[in-house]
Amino acid sequence: MSSADTVNGGISFWYADDGLPAPREPLGGDTSADVCVVGGGYTGLWTAYYLKKAAPFLRVTVLEQRFCGYGASGRNGGWLYNGIAGRDRYAALHGHEAAVRLQRAMNDTVGEVVRVAAEEKIEADIHQGGVLEVAYTPAQLARLKAFHAAELSYGEGDRVLRGARETAERVRVAGAVGSSWTPHGARLHPVKLVKGLAAAVEALGVTLHESTPVTDIRPGHAVTPYGTVRAPYVLRCTEGFTASLKGQRRTWLPMNSSMIVTEPLPDDAWDAIGWAGRETLGDMAHAYMYAQRTADGRIAIGGRGVPYRYGSKTDTAADPGRTQAATVEALRTLLVRFFPQLTGVGIDHAWAGVLGVPRDWCATVALDRSTGLGWAGGYVGSGVATANLAGRTLRDLVRRDSGQAGATDLTGLAWVDHRVRKWEPEPLRWLGVHGLYAAYRAADRRELARPTARTTRLARLADRLTGRG
Ligand SMILES: Cc1cc2nc3c(=O)[nH]c(=O)nc-3n(C[C@H](O)[C@H](O)[C@H](O)COP(=O)(O)OP(=O)(O)OC[C@H]3O[C@@H](n4cnc5c(N)ncnc54)[C@H](O)[C@@H]3O)c2cc1C
Repeated sequence: MSSADTVNGGISFWYADDGLPAPREPLGGDTSADVCVVGGGYTGLWTAYYLKKAAPFLRVTVLEQRFCGYGASGRNGGWLYNGIAGRDRYAALHGHEAAVRLQRAMNDTVGEVVRVAAEEKIEADIHQGGVLEVAYTPAQLARLKAFHAAELSYGEGDRVLRGARETAERVRVAGAVGSSWTPHGARLHPVKLVKGLAAAVEALGVTLHESTPVTDIRPGHAVTPYGTVRAPYVLRCTEGFTASLKGQRRTWLPMNSSMIVTEPLPDDAWDAIGWAGRETLGDMAHAYMYAQRTADGRIAIGGRGVPYRYGSKTDTAADPGRTQAATVEALRTLLVRFFPQLTGVGIDHAWAGVLGVPRDWCATVALDRSTGLGWAGGYVGSGVATANLAGRTLRDLVRRDSGQAGATDLTGLAWVDHRVRKWEPEPLRWLGVHGLYAAYRAADRRELARPTARTTRLARLADRLTGRG
């Protein structure tokens, strides 16, 4: 199959597979609500879901610029897992025990998403096979062992370190020298989850308005071209699109992530690859990849590609999800490096989306008690599960602030109410991010060419900048 046969864009493969949702009505004029949620991705929808479940009398309105699941929630790799961006920094700021509590909350969150999906009868191809991270160079193996030890220190006693042979018994990645596996992860179909969640939220009585871009958020108001929603609480759940809101240009940087998906693989390919456990699959490269075995027998694999567009641009409404041809080829090369028997395999679809990156690379959830403005995000690519924890936490923060409930375990977690400075203006922002990823790619190439157990100095420096080291 030639690359000319690959569909590029169209939001994502997941929509090509499951269909676009029927559109919901835009806002029809000025109105009021008790809580107004801006953004209909996982964060906004989970927040609306838990608020309405806890307090059915609340009038909750969600405003979405395009349609629910238009953003990363309809384009991601379907890793529902227990990673949260910034945990190590939160350990440094609030102590190890606080970070252990945050990690435990994330471990529980994986089970919570699976539980609600079952309760709401959301068929999202969920398979609880855990997360398998492999190393295929000596430097990656050294990092894998350090990563494994760190995860154990955050209370993940059920994590398993495997050697080359045991790794191959799970999945045969070419040249793999070891892996670390955690049970706290599941594979899912992102669009089936977001569509099911939007339907569940609507069935609970939440008002969803689509094709309704919010142009300004200020205390008590969410302003759109079709009217203003007045509400004592306005919650910003716009992740990678946040820069387009008034006053938020440098809050979270919209980072691109791109994916490709193969055609369905024949049985003999699966016999050669293994992967019967359907773990989500990652590696220990600096410009790391993520992959899943889909329910219909394909491999979906993602990575960074062109990391960032000048001026915090996201994709255009006319061509959403399109990624660069060079990125498609780079992902195909990566796929074949992992599974050489897939040389020449058909790539059915390629796409991209944006995720939100704060200046200190730490996810956060907050409610400003003096203004009633709240927000959650900055998940840096680990948002499928984290958005659920954010939704439950925003529920608790709103209920505490409005006197409906007291403080909870969630309102005391280390990531709550964390503040960080804004990104630098352009061109520094563009130069910084592109320099960072050029350094990571060069480090990966060097580690492949000259196998030593030591991570290159360049990558260690970049890690310090991103908080990964
Ligand atoms: C290609 C890719 C792969 C990924 N893979 C994984 C993965 O495997 N595992 C993982 O944990 N994470 C992954 N992520 C990250 C994860 O998908 C996100 O962190 C998560 O979906 C964020 O959900 P959200 O609701 O906060 O943001 P989004 O899903 O981006 O939702 C924000 C919504 O707000 C709307 N919006 C924005 N601005 C406005 C406005 N002004 N007015 C009204 N509406 C607005 C948008 O249209 C959008 O629907 C991936 C991301 C990408 C892009």
